[in-house]
Order: sequence, then structure tokens, then C-alpha cells
Amino acid sequence: MFCHHYLMEFAIQIDADYLVARLKALLAIPSPTGFTDETVRYTARELQRLGLEVVLTRRGAIRARRPGNARRPARGIVSHLDTLGAQVKLLKPNGRLELVSIGHWSARFAEGARVSVFSSKGTYRGSILPLKASGHTYNEEVDTQPTGWPHVEMRVDALARDRDDLVQLGIDVGDIVAVDPAPEFLDNGFIVSRHLDDKAGVATMLAALEAMQRLDVQTQVDTYWIFTIGEEVGVGASAALVADIASLVAVDNGTTAPGQNSSEFGVTLAMADQTGPFDYHLSKKLFELCGEHDIPVQKDVFRFYRSDAASAIEAGHDVRTALLAFGVDASHGYERIHLNALISIARLLVHYAASEVQIERDATETAEGLKGFTHQKMSQAEQDLTPDED
Ligand SMILES: [Zn+2]
Repeated sequence: MFCHHYLMEFAIQIDADYLVARLKALLAIPSPTGFTDETVRYTARELQRLGLEVVLTRRGAIRARRPGNARRPARGIVSHLDTLGAQVKLLKPNGRLELVSIGHWSARFAEGARVSVFSSKGTYRGSILPLKASGHTYNEEVDTQPTGWPHVEMRVDALARDRDDLVQLGIDVGDIVAVDPAPEFLDNGFIVSRHLDDKAGVATMLAALEAMQRLDVQTQVDTYWIFTIGEEVGVGASAALVADIASLVAVDNGTTAPGQNSSEFGVTLAMADQTGPFDYHLSKKLFELCGEHDIPVQKDVFRFYRSDAASAIEAGHDVRTALLAFGVDASHGYERIHLNALISIARLLVHYAASEVQIERDATETAEGLKGFTHQKMSQAEQDLTPDED
């Protein structure tokens, strides 16, 4: 049995093969928001295989407790199983399907995608095409047509010449459409796929947990491993928490785009998203743990972004929240990440779970008076105003 002092001296070995295998398996299971039962089953079974007891909410958010020496103040780590997708809006007279998006993503990135539609009679394959898809018919109009969900349609790979054919096939308004991830794992560590948001986060959490079980890491307090099913539509962690959880670390995608400080390498520690700043003390602790354990880290601030952490706060939970992100290039589009970021986050999660509790008072939701309450640094910075000698 290793105590946390042992962990400080030796680098945690995350099993990269395990992580990649879980990510591949997760990507192979379609899970647009609202259609997550099978991915919930897969993840819950894997947690049980790793030796954890699993609790499900009615709709399938997963909470797995890994016991520590004390129940409180427990730590939660959360990622989301649901992904972007689409839904049938209308059976069109031409035998094709008008779609609306599930979650926020541009139809620009859907054009040409291979998809499955889940009907009452079973699954059909198809493609999402712009309305003017034939170059021989529309010539330059192909390039000048607008972008957007009303300007694309799903072509079902079945006998679907008109609306009646679609009805015969069992396809109806509201049916869920999943977009193929088309994953590619390159030898140099880059991973190119749809739905890396947030299946890569789920795989990273599983890899951290696998290392903790393998190394029998002892923790001062309980850790909860939480997997949500409605993040892409803003629900996230709202129903999956318990009162013992005093702090919640979300694992989700960062955005490596011009003007952002994220990277495809190392940990990206988000300091704020559109809902405001993350917890000062929890973020500071995570940053310092990176320093102590030689984990590359950079901070970033996200504007058009929310995560499981935001939904927990908005649902009224009094938890400290932080966000660990893996840099995703072209997020909610043609996503690419690097394995280095996932390994870095998994290592940090283990060190965080094994770290000492700094704010003992967090064991209860409220406590009388100021004893044990936190401070924030407000003293003047020390400055050396002497000019450089040489
Ligand atoms: Zn996400």
C-alpha cells in the first residue's frame, strides 16, 4: 500500500495502452445527448471491473465512490458521456430528413459526415449533405449556398424516395442521429476524431482510476468518479452529486484556437468560463500539484464555454469547482488532441486524489464563525526597484 508521500517521490505510471483502448471503445459507442444508455452500461461495467461500486441516477448519470480514510470532505471528479449529435426535425417530401443539432455545433462540420439514424425499427446508415450537393447540377451554386442546419439534409441509405418510404422504414420526427467519429490514432500521439469532447475526458478518468487501483493508492478522503449524460445541453453534473462532495474537478476539452492560451500538450487549467471564475483555492492547489510533480501546465480563460462544473453550481450545490482541460484543436468541429495532454491530466488526477485536505472546514457545508476559513492573498507584491547592474 502506498501512501501519498510515496506518490510524491515516484512519478505515477499511467497505462497509455489502457487509456487508448478505453477511448477507442467509447468512441465506438454512439452517445448523442438523450441516447446514452449503452455508453452508460459500458462505463459502469468498466468501473465495476476496476473494483468500484456504481450508483446510477434514473436517467443514467454514474457515481462511483472510491473509499478513503474519511468520507468528508470528499472529492468529485467528473466528465460527460454524451456528445454532440442531431435529431430528425422533418420527414421531407424528397425522402430525406431535415435535422436539428443536439448541442451547439455548426452544420458546416456535418456536411459529408457518415451517420446512423435510430428508428423504431432499427438503425439506418446515411450521410449529411448540403441541399445542393451535386456539382453537375448546381455548378457554382454549391459554393455559394448558405451554411446551417436548415441547409443540410440526411440522405438515408435505404429505399427512401419520398415521405411514405421514410414512414415505411419506421423513421419518425425526433429520432436520434449519431455522427460517426471517424477516429485516427497516429503513432506520434495525435488523435483525430469527432466526439473527443468528452470521450477523451472519460477515458482519462478511467486511466487515472486504473492506476490508483493497480498501485493501491490510499487517499485521505473519499473520491467520487462521476460521469454525466447531459452536458452538451447544459444539464451536466446537476443531479449526480452528493452532499459529501466538497470540491469537484471537471475534465473536459479546452480550445486551442488563436487568442487562447491552451495547448494540445500538458494540462490546461481553466481559470474561468462563461459562468465566471473557477474556485480560487482549488485551482491554485491543482496548479501547485502540477509544479510539484513536473506535470506541464498552462492556464486559460474560456468565453463561449461551460462544463459539468457550471451545471453543478447552477443546480445549487455549494461545491468548489475547477476545470482540467485537454487542448482540442477545432473543438466541436474537426477535433484533434494529443495523448500527452490526456496522460498529463490522468497523472494530475491521481496526485489530486491522493493529496492532503487543505481546507478541513469543507467537511461540512456550513460552519460557524471564521475558524479555518480560507484567506486570499492581498498583500503588496514585493518589488526590487534597483536597476540591473549589467
Ligand atoms: Zn464537453
